[in-house]
Amino acid sequence: MMTAITRENVLEALAGISPPGASQSIVSQGLVSEVVINGNDVMFALSADPRNVPAMETTRQAAEAAVKALPGIGKVMVALTADRPMTRSATPAQAARQARGTAVEGVSHIIAVASGKGGVGKSTTAVNIALGLAALGHRIGILDADIYGPSMPKLMGIVDKPKLASPGSKLLAPLERYGIKAMSMGFLVEEATPMIWRGPMVMGALVQMLREVAWGRLDCLVVDMPPGTGDVQLTLAQQTPLSGAIIVSTPQDLALIDARKGLNMFKKVNVPVLGIIENMSYFLCTNCGERHEIFGHGGARIEAERMGVPFLGEVPLDARLRERSDKGEPVTVCEPSSPLAAIYQSIARQIWTALATAEAAVKPPPRIVIDR
Ligand code: ADP
Repeated sequence: MMTAITRENVLEALAGISPPGASQSIVSQGLVSEVVINGNDVMFALSADPRNVPAMETTRQAAEAAVKALPGIGKVMVALTADRPMTRSATPAQAARQARGTAVEGVSHIIAVASGKGGVGKSTTAVNIALGLAALGHRIGILDADIYGPSMPKLMGIVDKPKLASPGSKLLAPLERYGIKAMSMGFLVEEATPMIWRGPMVMGALVQMLREVAWGRLDCLVVDMPPGTGDVQLTLAQQTPLSGAIIVSTPQDLALIDARKGLNMFKKVNVPVLGIIENMSYFLCTNCGERHEIFGHGGARIEAERMGVPFLGEVPLDARLRERSDKGEPVTVCEPSSPLAAIYQSIARQIWTALATAEAAVKPPPRIVIDR
């Protein structure tokens, strides 16, 4: 018979893990906290020096592996928390962020998911990143700013219309699904309604969706940008108080040229690019199990290196991902143990680490709440 996992079992398993270069274990240094045991699933937080968060990722993985080795264990989730602010001076990117539009009250970070052209899987990626961040225990919202082709209703399987936050209120309540809040022009207009938007209207619609929606307290709002790098996108990037941007590209040369334009656009307006994701990177054949690199994969990684921005990961071309997305069942929540979900979770972790590291330089990051 299997015995239940205890806190002591977890701490014992972690007693052999120490951060790089340290002689004491993470347990004796008091870095392990908020151990939550739910049946056989275990979650806990690992504190990291904000200057050292990327290096602690290896330790986080080792800690996760050590607990995963316990007999009878279920899911294991280890969150890095950078809870020791070091300096109080703003970095150039933070100063630029503060200079751009005023912050949205209650929202700690706004990040943009962008692509140089349409159809590369930007919206699919944005949804799965948002859900990956939520799975880490953060309060997340998603704003579909792709008003030319809003896809959030379909991707999130939302058919309801938003209502006022309270009677007489000027604010709309966001819709909630899979534990995240969502707002999209697609919730407000019929799918078949043709819309012709001029630049200023796009900006007006986005500002309204940012500020006239009762988002409440969010650790991060993910903005699914309109595809492309024209004036509209540039204005959005410039006037939204973004903490950072993520670029989605396919491996084809053409898409990469567009991705480069996206990188340059964010550089121009001083928004830090948190990284590039290569979507439809390779095809994992369900029949033969072999990996086929249809579009000559790896271009985005090389491009990221050349541009000096992080490469966040490769998402394969996968028919299941498309089927699930089209049914409003994002893989990250509907198949959380699948290899695809693992890719999005890893990307989400890297994004959060980058946000927490940047933020720790000016103020303590929001506490990571593990609550499930
Ligand atoms: P964009 O926002 O860039 O226009 P979407 O996210 O709407 O792109 O994706 C376009 C189409 O490609 C959708 O049908 C989506 O389900 C599909 N798709 C996206 N990423 C993948 C993938 N990795 N594998 C298979 N299909 C994908």
